[in-house]
Amino acid sequence: MKLGIVGLPNVGKSTLFNSLTKAGAEAANYPFCTIDPNVGIAPVNDERLIQLEKIYESGKVIPAVIEFVDIAGLVKGASKGEGLGNKFLSHIREVDAIVHVVRCFDDSNVVHVSSKVDPINDIETINLELILSDLEILERRASKTAKSVKADKQLQKELDLIEMIKERLEQGLCARTISFEEEDAVIVRSFNLLTYKPVLYAANVDEESLAGADNEYVGQVTRLASEEGSEVFTVCAKIEEEIAELDDDEKKMFLNELGVSESGLERLIAASYKLLGLISFLTAGPKEVRAWTIQDGTKAPQAAGKIHSDFERGFIRAEIVNCGDLVRLGNYNLAKEKGLVRLEGKEYTVKDGDVILFRFNV
Ligand code: GDP
Repeated sequence: MKLGIVGLPNVGKSTLFNSLTKAGAEAANYPFCTIDPNVGIAPVNDERLIQLEKIYESGKVIPAVIEFVDIAGLVKGASKGEGLGNKFLSHIREVDAIVHVVRCFDDSNVVHVSSKVDPINDIETINLELILSDLEILERRASKTAKSVKADKQLQKELDLIEMIKERLEQGLCARTISFEEEDAVIVRSFNLLTYKPVLYAANVDEESLAGADNEYVGQVTRLASEEGSEVFTVCAKIEEEIAELDDDEKKMFLNELGVSESGLERLIAASYKLLGLISFLTAGPKEVRAWTIQDGTKAPQAAGKIHSDFERGFIRAEIVNCGDLVRLGNYNLAKEKGLVRLEGKEYTVKDGDVILFRFNV
């Protein structure tokens, strides 16, 4: 799962990206991740792993991760190729969701590209580039589809959807503001539109606002986001960068002083998980305890496939215990005796926090 961090220049994207990646997940454990300086992996904080590690004394804990891509270079005119614009837009096409960083802090030392802090204007500037790029995609798709529609009547549906989305985009609104029936949504997703990707607006605020001071900019972003059904969360990128440098104890103390229990990054990662409809299942043993990311609704064999394709192909059954039950009893065999370890088959839908042992044929 990949999230792209976008926003105008100088709003704090790189600062946020650096603190996310500094939070440190060892890349060697995640062979699927892209190796690129603009791509970083951030661990998903999960208290359950620590608890399981105490039971198994495995000494090795591997959290789930989310990939973040720092997509710099989006400026006014990007869709027309300004500032390498099109290249950056194509990077956004590859991500599953977007974190849109919006400057909500005043600081005369940090230049604003349009010389005034104005979050709504900033958001609209970026969204307009995405909208223009989507319109271009839809034009191309429409002319291709129109050629084949005589031979395949099914395609009329696609043309109708394209028309409907174009109308919305031409009003300056994002495609995600339209709600589709699932059947149509499948077609719309195949267009891979930038403005149909889920978005989290990250309001980058100053220290005072983080501590609870009123911030009118955040209010503006929140209103805009709620109109399009998106989420907002507040973060102070500068502080996150400082927190990322601290060790665990120092971090706890620092957060305590700020009066919060989790760092902004931890909240961001949790919110991204929710936005993408993701959950974690866990594996635990004397060698390692580990969290694995799956889409909510994934069946047991496909979950097994996340670990290894052989596990999916040769899937027989899964032995499952709820993490909370296991931690409470402190021992797998005891959980088994109490009948809390279930045997599940191919049709089982994996739940968040399931501790799973897969049985498979090789
Ligand atoms: P980007 O162009 O969006 O990647 O922006 P950067 O992350 O490079 O940040 C631009 C400048 O703004 C840098 O000098 C940062 O130190 C500063 N900056 C970033 N976040 C904050 C913040 O929360 N508060 C303040 N005052 N400055 C920040």
